[in-house]
Amino acid sequence: MVMILKTPRRQMLADDVYEQLKALVMDSSIEPGARMNIEDLARQLEVSPTPVREALARLESEGLAVKLPLKGYRTTDLLDAQGLRELYDLRLLLEGPSARRAAERITDEQAEALRLEMHSVVEVPEAHRYESYLPLTAHDVRLHQLLLADAGNQMVREAFERTHCHLHIFRLTYGRLSGVHTITEHAAVVDAVVSRDGDAAEEAMRAHLIQSRDRVLAGIS
Ligand SMILES: [Zn+2]
Repeated sequence: MVMILKTPRRQMLADDVYEQLKALVMDSSIEPGARMNIEDLARQLEVSPTPVREALARLESEGLAVKLPLKGYRTTDLLDAQGLRELYDLRLLLEGPSARRAAERITDEQAEALRLEMHSVVEVPEAHRYESYLPLTAHDVRLHQLLLADAGNQMVREAFERTHCHLHIFRLTYGRLSGVHTITEHAAVVDAVVSRDGDAAEEAMRAHLIQSRDRVLAGIS
């Protein structure tokens, strides 16, 4: 039997190109709405066009790039205040009741995973670069995903994933928001969920999302 495997090196290169391009889009080194020419990017990053094309397709699936007919790609525009409010309205609909569900059905194992996740956050980023936000962003993504998984509704999880909300919020606000409030609010949600208090869990999640939305709105106005 012949097995054809992707070589790790090739995979690393494609992932690396994707991460580099994503960082450029996230911190607006490539401005919102700007054209991205595959050949030009390949030349700048000193790689072949193939991993660039793959990276752009991944960015498109995340809503960070749009394919232009016969012309490569452009970056998407930043969310405006209206778009941001709509995104948070959706999150409130999905995540408030999910936090309640999670509190009502959580297992000891899942509760332990939430506690571990809270212990994983060690530093609050101060620097003004996308990379410095990665630990906090990664924690935020993991925590919200864990809570949705604990709620046990696959459809809701998928609807949440499709928003790619963390990418769009962090792209909009990078360098301007501190993570202190986020971590305190997360701790309140986790406390309520692991105490199996559905009312408190839904309320803490709602409070977190509303405060997060208002911080972002204040940051972009
Ligand atoms: Zn959060």
